[in-house]
Amino acid sequence: ALTIGIVGLPNVGKSTMFNALTRNNVLAENYPFATIEPNTGIVPLPDDRLPVLADLVHTEKVVPATVTFVDIAGIVKGASEGEGLGNKFLANIREADAICEVVRAFEDDDIVHVNGHVDPADDIDTINTELILADLQTIDNALPKLEKDLRGKKIEPSYLEAVRKAKEILESGRTIDAAAQAGEIDKVDVFDLHLLTAKPFIYVFNVDDNELSNEDFKAKLAASVAPAPAIFLNAQFEAELTELDEADAREMLADAGLDESGLDQLARVGFDILGLQTFLTAGEKEVRAWQIHQGWTAPQAAGVIHTDFEKGFIKAEVVSYDDFVAAEGSMAKIKEEGKLRLEGKDYVMQDGDIVEFKFNV
Ligand code: GDP
Repeated sequence: ALTIGIVGLPNVGKSTMFNALTRNNVLAENYPFATIEPNTGIVPLPDDRLPVLADLVHTEKVVPATVTFVDIAGIVKGASEGEGLGNKFLANIREADAICEVVRAFEDDDIVHVNGHVDPADDIDTINTELILADLQTIDNALPKLEKDLRGKKIEPSYLEAVRKAKEILESGRTIDAAAQAGEIDKVDVFDLHLLTAKPFIYVFNVDDNELSNEDFKAKLAASVAPAPAIFLNAQFEAELTELDEADAREMLADAGLDESGLDQLARVGFDILGLQTFLTAGEKEVRAWQIHQGWTAPQAAGVIHTDFEKGFIKAEVVSYDDFVAAEGSMAKIKEEGKLRLEGKDYVMQDGDIVEFKFNV
C-alpha cells in the first residue's frame, strides 16, 4: 500500500496526532484495521456516502478504503549528515510515498521548542533543508556516472539537463515538489533519482484550538506552503475527539464550529495527494469503497476486485452516487430513467461511480 510518512521536529505534537489517528481506527469497531507495526497506522478514508448506501441496499457491512500513515521519528538539524537517527530517518522517508510535515503553531510555555521559539516557517525550513541536502547528495553521487553515461551515449542529454535543473532548484533552497507545482520541472524527468523532495508534501499545522477558526492566521500559514495542501488541527483536541462516541464527537466538533475533524481532513487530503481515488460497489452483501489510482480505466478497477475480472472484462454497468440516491437505490428506476451507463474498456473511472462489472471467466 502507498504510505504517508509523518515527520516533524521533536515536541510539535506528532505522537499525540499519530496516536489519535490510530486510536481512531481501533475505536471504529466495524473496521478490522489494526496497527500492524507500532509506527504504522491504517485508518479508514472518511466517506459519508457509505452509510447512506448501506441504508439504501439494506446491508450492515460497510468497508471503507484506507489510508496508511507511518510515524517517522528522528528528524533533527544535521539529519542529512547522519546526526541523531539521521540515516534511519532518511531511509524511512525514502520508503514513504508522500510526506506529511507536522509543524508546531501552538503556544505553550511548558513545552520546550527545540529551536527555542515557535516559528512555523523556521521549522519547515529546518526540515526541508535536511531533505534538500540529502537530495543534493543523491545528485552529486549520481552526476559523475551520468556524465560518463552521456559520453557513452547511454542516456539522453535531456536527462542530464533535467538532473542539473533539479540540482539548481535544490541549491536555491526549494523542494522538487514545490518547483514541479510551479511548472519549473517535470517530476517524471528525474523519477529515476527517487528524490525525497519529489514526493508530494502535505503540511499539518498544530494550532491552539482558539486559532482553529482564525481565518487570517490560517490563511497566512497556508500561503507559506501553497500550493502544497495545509491542514489545521489541534492535536490534543483531536485526541480528545477520538475518545468520544460518534454522536458526542460530532457535538464537540459543532461546538468548536467545525464540521469535520482534522484527522478526517488529513486522511482525505492524504489519500488525494497519493494520487488515489475510489469507486463504489453496493450490494446486499456489503457496501464498499475500492481504492484505485486516479485515471485508472474500468478493467484496471475491475482487477482490484479480482484479477479474473480484469482479464475477462466485458463491460461496466455504472450509476453515479447521486443518481443512485435519487432513485432510492432502485435499479429498476435507475434503468427506467436511463441513468445506468454501460462503459467499455477505455472508460476512465470517476469518483462516485457505483459499479457492477460484467466479465467472462
Ligand atoms: P512529538 O515529539 O512531536 O511527538 O510531540 P508530542 O505529541 O509528544 O507532544 C509534545 C508535547 O506537546 C506533549 O506534552 C503534548 O501533550 C503537547 N502537545 C501536543 N499537541 C499540543 C497542542 O496542540 N497544544 C498544546 N498546548 N500542547 C500540545
